[in-house]
Amino acid sequence: MKPRYGSQEDYAQAINELKKAFAGDEDAVSTNSDDLYSHGFSVNDYHPGASHTVIIYPTSTEDVVKVVKISTKYRMPIIAYSGGTSLEGQFRGYQSGGICLDMSRMNNIIEIHEADSDLVCQPGACWSDINDALREKKIPLFFPLDPAPTATIGGMLSTGCSGTNAVRYGTGKAEWFLNATVVLPSGEVIKTRRRARKSSAGFDTTKLFIGAEGTLGIVTEVTIRLTPLLPTAVAIVHFSDVRKATEAVREVTLSGVTIQCVELLDDLCMHALNQYGQSAEKWPEKDTLLFKFQGHNKASLAESGRVVEKIVARHGGFGFKFAKDDQEAEDLWETRKNALYAGLALISGSRAWSTDVCVPVSKLPELVYETKKDLASSGLVAPMAGHVGDGNFHAALLISNEKELEIARDIVSRMVHRAIALDGTWEHGVGIGKKDYLVEELGSGTVELMKLLKRTIDPLNLFNPGKVCIVLDLEPRRPR
Ligand SMILES: Cc1cc2nc3c(=O)[nH]c(=O)nc-3n(C[C@H](O)[C@H](O)[C@H](O)COP(=O)(O)OP(=O)(O)OC[C@H]3O[C@@H](n4cnc5c(N)ncnc54)[C@H](O)[C@@H]3O)c2cc1C
Repeated sequence: MKPRYGSQEDYAQAINELKKAFAGDEDAVSTNSDDLYSHGFSVNDYHPGASHTVIIYPTSTEDVVKVVKISTKYRMPIIAYSGGTSLEGQFRGYQSGGICLDMSRMNNIIEIHEADSDLVCQPGACWSDINDALREKKIPLFFPLDPAPTATIGGMLSTGCSGTNAVRYGTGKAEWFLNATVVLPSGEVIKTRRRARKSSAGFDTTKLFIGAEGTLGIVTEVTIRLTPLLPTAVAIVHFSDVRKATEAVREVTLSGVTIQCVELLDDLCMHALNQYGQSAEKWPEKDTLLFKFQGHNKASLAESGRVVEKIVARHGGFGFKFAKDDQEAEDLWETRKNALYAGLALISGSRAWSTDVCVPVSKLPELVYETKKDLASSGLVAPMAGHVGDGNFHAALLISNEKELEIARDIVSRMVHRAIALDGTWEHGVGIGKKDYLVEELGSGTVELMKLLKRTIDPLNLFNPGKVCIVLDLEPRRPR
C-alpha cells in the first residue's frame, strides 16, 4: 500500500501530543496564524506554497527526535526552517500541511577549537554571528561561506550554499562542514564522522545531507571548518562592455593571484547604486568589477593589484583604483551589498526575482552576453550583480505585475537552459523552483539514484516532501 499522510483529525491529535511533549515550555509550540504564514511563504521567491499546520521550536536533538516520532505516528510532513533566506521555495509549506521545525532556538556555539581551526555549533547559528563572536574573542579565524547575512549553518549545509568568497574558498560542497549530527526519519540519531580533517571511512555521509534541503534528515549539530583571517584590500575597475569585464575575470582567475572575491556590477546596477545614494561616492555608470585581494602584508596586496591592473587593462578596463583605507574598502563592499535594494528602488513597489546561473568561468562571457541581450529585449528592468569569480552572476528581474511575472518566468527558464547547455548549473539549490531542471542537468540515472536514497531513508516521504526530487509514487493521494 502506498504511504499516505494523516487526516485533519490525525493532525489535530498530533498537535495535542506535541503540546504534551513540550508541556512546560510555552515557547515551543505555535499555531498562531501569522507564524504559520510567515514560515510557509517567502517574499523572496515566486513558488507555490501553503501554510504549515504547526510550528515547533526545538532546543535540542532530543526535542527533534520527539517531533520526528510524532510526525511518523500521525503521518505528518516535517519541514525544517532556519534563516528562512532560501530563494527556491525550499521551506514552503506542503499542500496537506505539516510540522515546521524552526531551528532558531538551537543557535549556540558549543565548542571553539582554535588550534584545529574548527568550531562545533547548533544548526540555528548564523554564520555572521559566528564570525562576530570569533572577532570579539580575538580569535583570528573565520567561516568563509557567506550567503544572505541572516542565513544559518543548518540551512547553509542543507542548501550546499556559497557566496562572495567562493572564488577563494569554494562552496558548501567543499569540506567546510566536517561532520553533522542528524535525526533520521526513523528517529535514529547519527553523527556522520569525527572531527579530524580527513576521513576515508567509507561513504561520505556528511555530503549526503549537503544540499538535501531537509529531505533526508534534520541536522542538529555541525562541526564547521574555519580559516585564518588575513589582511585584504579592495579595488574597483570599470569597462565599457560587460563581455570584456568577464573575459578579464577569466584571465585573472588563471593568473594565480590570491583573490578572495570578484564581483560584477553592470552599468544599470551602478546607476541604481548612484541613485540609491548610500555610498559616499558617485561611481561611473559602467560595467564594473570589484576585487577583494588577500595577502599577508601590504606589499603582497599591492603586488596582486599590479598584476590584476595589467590584466584588466588588456581587456579595456579603466579607472582601476584601490580603496585608500579600510573605511573606503568597507564602503565599496557595502555598495555591493546594497545592490539588490538599490535595484529594487529603481521601480518603486517592485519585487525582484533573483536569478542564479553558474557556468565554468571560461563560458561566463558568452552566458553574460547572451543574457544581457535577452534582458534588453524582454522589456524588464534587470540590474546584474554577481560572484563572477566562480562563474556565477545574478540578474534581479524587477516585477510589478502578473504580465512581468510571466516574462520573468520565461527569462529564468531560458537562462537555466542556457547555463546547462554551457555545462553549468544554478546557485540557490533546488527547492520547488529548480526541480524541473534536475534531470536535464544531472541525467535521469543520477536523479533516480537520489530517489532511491530518498525512498530508502524516508519511506513515508515525510521529510520536506515535494522538494528537490519528487518521488512520485510516494506523493500522497488527495489528503483525506
Ligand atoms: C540577499 C540574499 C543573498 C543570498 N546570497 C546567496 C549566495 O551568495 N549564495 C547562495 O548559495 N545563496 C544565497 N542566498 C540564498 C540563501 O541565503 C541560502 O540558500 C542559505 O544557505 C539558506 O540558509 P537559511 O538558514 O536561510 O536556510 P532556510 O531558508 O531556512 O532553509 C533552507 C533549506 O534547508 C532546510 N533546512 C534548514 N535547516 C535545516 C536543518 N537543521 N536540518 C535539515 N534541513 C534544514 C530547509 O528545510 C530548507 O529546505 C541568498 C539569499 C538572499 C535573500
